[in-house]
Amino acid sequence: MSLSSYGCSDVLLTNVKIVNPSTDGSLRVGEGETILVIDGLISEIRQKGSRRVQRDRDVTVIDVEGRCVTPGLIDCHTHLIYAGNRASEFADRVGGKSYQQILENGGGILSTVNDTRRASTERLFELANARLRRMTRYGLTTVEVKSGYGLDLETEVKMLKVARLLDGTGARVISTFLGAHILPREFHDRKVRYINYLAKEVLPKLIDMNLVDMVDGFCDGAAFSAKELLPYFEAAKSMNLPIRVHLDQLGDTDSFAMFSDLAPISVDHLEYLNDRSIESMARGSTVAVVVPTASYFLRQQQKPPIEKLRYYGIPIALATDHNPGTSPVESLLLAMNMGCVLFNLTPGEALSGVTINAARALGISDRGSIACGMLGDLAIWDVADPVELSYYMGHSPLWARVVGGAVFRYDRTTC
Ligand SMILES: [Zn+2]
Repeated sequence: MSLSSYGCSDVLLTNVKIVNPSTDGSLRVGEGETILVIDGLISEIRQKGSRRVQRDRDVTVIDVEGRCVTPGLIDCHTHLIYAGNRASEFADRVGGKSYQQILENGGGILSTVNDTRRASTERLFELANARLRRMTRYGLTTVEVKSGYGLDLETEVKMLKVARLLDGTGARVISTFLGAHILPREFHDRKVRYINYLAKEVLPKLIDMNLVDMVDGFCDGAAFSAKELLPYFEAAKSMNLPIRVHLDQLGDTDSFAMFSDLAPISVDHLEYLNDRSIESMARGSTVAVVVPTASYFLRQQQKPPIEKLRYYGIPIALATDHNPGTSPVESLLLAMNMGCVLFNLTPGEALSGVTINAARALGISDRGSIACGMLGDLAIWDVADPVELSYYMGHSPLWARVVGGAVFRYDRTTC
């Protein structure tokens, strides 16, 4: 994405309380500092009392009056592009039906597939753009967006084109192909044939069209087994695409070791992740992505093994998993709150999970922390203590976002 799409400018933030998260959830906080963004990148961080560097160019100076400044938030797992909603399914579930019962009755993901196949590119863009604009009001500057509601070439192309169109409309967008989301009806009982279709026909065409940044698959009893997914992931790997896996959300597949040679950059959900999988993860660099809003929405009692992930030093990221069926949430701040309340993350871990560790889960190192040379993507908060970011429920204390040097103010509008 071109930085100029944000009308990039040079900006100097003064009187900043820098909150810089580390991968282990600890926060480094520095008061009274300045951050200079030039040509879209952080070019200078000056500590209180240090000498001002003379510059030969004009910059926009903004006194943030001691407010907390964090890296711009990164939502590393969303299904943002779809048509329709699943409110009636929600009513069924609160009435007592399980997610698996709904899937078996032909509801769930397949009902969104039907709606999305019928929608035009323009309509999908309109819907997703409105969601993305609302999400930015909670400090988002980068979002990962998955396909997977098409399950045929035409609709997967349509979704991923919409993802590319969204990039630069207010946030940076990373596109993931999720063809192996669930088996479409037309491939009834022919999972191997469907996986071959994805690996040999769909994925190469999407790559030729430059529509894919990474590849994801749903490994669970209700979707695909690890053995079924391997040819799909091996095809992606042979085309140099990073791999991510929806893993162990609804049951223990005991399958991380089968993927470990492919070095997935993340595995996501993980409610049923077992000890053997955690030990296998600890030998590599895969990030654990947890999605507490989906767990809440499904009323799952089983929680991801946070304590063991901590013990093995596995980086933990946190995402909304925004989708119409199991997590229709648009606030990363609410996901942070639920990560703390439901999964016992510390507020520092929650913030690391939507910044530095979220960047790692996407395999990118140019954002997610505040340092010279990083993208000038920042969130400025009207809070005195970063713990407040995980504390509020439903309220966004966002004061401004900076995306590649362009400043979006929220203090003059209702957030
Ligand atoms: Zn998901």
